[in-house]
Amino acid sequence: MDLPALKARATDEVRARAGVLLDVSHRIHEHPELNFEEHRAHDLLTAALEAGGFDVTRGAHGLDTAFVAEAGHAGPRIAVICEYDALPGIGHACGHNVIAAAGLGAGLALATLADELGGRVVVIGTPAEEGGGGKVLMARDGAFADVAAALMVHPADHDLAAMTTIAIQRLIVEYQGEEAHAAAHPELGRNALDAAVLGYVNVAALRQHIRPDERVHGIFTDAGQKPNIVPAHAAAEWYVRSPTLATLDPLRARVLGCLEAGAAAAGCHMHHRWADPPYAHMLDDPELVELYVANSAATGRTVHPPGSTGMVVGSTDMGNVSHLVPSIHPMIRVAPPGVSIHTPAFTGHARSAAGDAAVVDGAIALATTVIDLWARPELLASARRRLDVATADTPAPI
Ligand SMILES: [Zn+2]
Ligand SMILES: [Zn+2]
Repeated sequence: MDLPALKARATDEVRARAGVLLDVSHRIHEHPELNFEEHRAHDLLTAALEAGGFDVTRGAHGLDTAFVAEAGHAGPRIAVICEYDALPGIGHACGHNVIAAAGLGAGLALATLADELGGRVVVIGTPAEEGGGGKVLMARDGAFADVAAALMVHPADHDLAAMTTIAIQRLIVEYQGEEAHAAAHPELGRNALDAAVLGYVNVAALRQHIRPDERVHGIFTDAGQKPNIVPAHAAAEWYVRSPTLATLDPLRARVLGCLEAGAAAAGCHMHHRWADPPYAHMLDDPELVELYVANSAATGRTVHPPGSTGMVVGSTDMGNVSHLVPSIHPMIRVAPPGVSIHTPAFTGHARSAAGDAAVVDGAIALATTVIDLWARPELLASARRRLDVATADTPAPI
């Protein structure tokens, strides 16, 4: 098998479709859709995959905006992951339009080679990465049961071999107090906003005494109606993050203690709910990452390990997938160094010339990495063994 020639063909197949891929990237970018509402992106991607010869399941695994698209008839079944949800107010500030179009490009190119090489590719469309845990819900329904490896690429301000991922769980908190006229009878009031603010300040103090790689951050989602009414109701949403699900547990308890103390101080009742599902940290397979880095170099990109030139700390539901099948989640540069994801500036870069280049280069790097794995299935077997060892003592996070 002439691997360099096959990779050159895959590269040509991606480049020949650049117009289609960039059109998809731009159209998704122009119509940002939030968690589980990504109907336009779902329709656009599934139509393009069907036109490319894929066997497409729309609304897969019980989620309206998820899809599964298959090509090839035998051999190792490798997943290319698409994300396509956006953020409220700032649109595609995480650049998921680039993830979607790069995944589409890799899939379309691989479909032309699958039967010849004896491999299968499944493009999996995963909604609601931004807090909805689409991949976890799909995993519970068996979406990754017959997958040998799962690959995706995420935009950033650097070319990085991996994201520095930490586990996360969302916490929804509500406070109940007692209304009163804020001037006439303040003594009758029990101020739910005070409860929320005191809890917030407690967490601020807690932050001095947690691990440097942990993160806790929240917003108020209800802070009263009018200054002259003592707020009887307040609410907050918190993200609690720690390196692994195991280390997250004690941090969750400490955060909750802070918030309950605020409620007690203000004489209010507090209700809380840990949102399902938590996101696990990524287990990037080192050998798969190495293949991606080498294949990216062929597109002219130098991919660095996190930390040397830059890093992106965050959480992703791809973390949960990586505990089930050997996975990678490298970052591809679309923005100048220092431009953070989740900012309006990054939204602009996600459909710039650099964003477009990342779509094409990302598709090529993913496709050529899949070709490596089709050609050398022993790499998949060793990745599987590494994952089995890494997860031997932990329950699957689904
Ligand atoms: Zn994001
Ligand atoms: Zn993202």
